[in-house]
Amino acid sequence: MSQPSAPSEPPRSPEAAAPAGLGAFIAGLPKAELHVHHVGSASPRIVAELAARHPDSPVPKDPAELERYFTFRDFAHFIEVYLSVVDLIRDAEDIRLLTYEVARDMARQNIRYAELTVTPHSSVARGIPDLAFMEAIEDARKAAERELGVVLRWCFDTPSELGLPAAAETVRMACELRPEGLVSFGLGGPEIGWPRPPFKPYFDRAIAAGLHSVPHAGETTGPQTVWDALTELRAERIGHGTSAARDPRLLAHLAEHGIPLEVCPTSNVATRAVPSLAEHPLPQLVAAGVTVTVNSDDPPMFGTDLNTEYAHAARLLGLDAAGVAELAKNAVRVSFLDAAGKARLTAEIDGYLAAWPG
Ligand SMILES: [Zn+2]
Repeated sequence: MSQPSAPSEPPRSPEAAAPAGLGAFIAGLPKAELHVHHVGSASPRIVAELAARHPDSPVPKDPAELERYFTFRDFAHFIEVYLSVVDLIRDAEDIRLLTYEVARDMARQNIRYAELTVTPHSSVARGIPDLAFMEAIEDARKAAERELGVVLRWCFDTPSELGLPAAAETVRMACELRPEGLVSFGLGGPEIGWPRPPFKPYFDRAIAAGLHSVPHAGETTGPQTVWDALTELRAERIGHGTSAARDPRLLAHLAEHGIPLEVCPTSNVATRAVPSLAEHPLPQLVAAGVTVTVNSDDPPMFGTDLNTEYAHAARLLGLDAAGVAELAKNAVRVSFLDAAGKARLTAEIDGYLAAWPG
C-alpha cells in the first residue's frame, strides 16, 4: 500500500484508455512490473477466497457483492475496505494464498516478471511468525514460477508511519532471514511528516547486505524528498518521484545517472498527487531524458491494472506499438532480474512486436 489517502477513480479498461488498436497489443505484450504492493494487489476474487477462509469477517463472500464492496464511496470507505482486507490476512496460509493468487492475476495480464513490494512487519506484528511468513512467500514464488510462468522477486518495504522501530525490524528480517527471492529494500507510507534521512542507517544495513535501495519519494512531497532518497538512502530507483518534474536540476541528475522512476499514473490521480491524468508529468519526465517505467501500485484498490496503466502511458506519450514495447523493455532493463532472465524477456518482447500485424 503506498498511501491509503483517497478513493479510487472508476475502473477503466486498456481498450477504453489506449489509442486506437493498442489495447490488444498491450494486453498480449509480455511485461515486467516493478512497483506493485502485495496486500494492495488483493483483487475482489482473492478477497473472496480469503473471506471464505475466515467466515467471521464482515467482508462479503460473494464475488459480485464484493465488486460492489470494492467500489469506494469516499475516503473513509476506502480505508474501511483496505483494513478489512488486512484483517483477512491472519496466518501463513493466507499469505501463501494471497501471493500465489496475485501472481495468477499477473499471468492473465501477461506479466512475466514482478518485483512485489511486501511489508513483512505488518503481518509479523499481527502474529504471523517471521519464518512462517518467509516460507509462505517463497513457497508461493516457486509455485507461481513453475505453474504460472510468473517470476516474482521481493522488495521488503517498511511503512514510514511506523517509524524507525519498524524499519529496524524489517531490515533485521531482510538480513537475517533473507528469503531467496529478496532483491531490494523500500520505504513506503506517508511522506508528509516522515522525512527520509532518519531511515538512512537501515538502508545502509540493507545495502551492505547486497540489497538494492528503492524508496518511495516525491509522490506527495516535493523534489527535496527525491534528493534525500538519492543522497541519504542511495536510491537506485525511485518509487513515483513524479515531483521531480518541478526541478530541472533534479531531472538532469536523474537522466545523467540513469536513475529510473517507477511511475504509477492512476495511483497518482487517486491519491491526488497529480490533479488528473491529462496533467500527469510523465511527458515532461520522458522529455528530460529520465528513464520511466509504468506500474500499477495497488491495482484493484485504484480500479486499474498494469495493462490500463500502459494504455494511459501510451496516450500521454503518443506512443505506437514499438514505443509501448520500448517502455516494457525499460522495465526489464532496470529491474533486478539476473542478466539471463533480462535477455530472455527482452527477446520475448522483441519477438512479440515483430509478429504484431499492425
Ligand atoms: Zn507504492
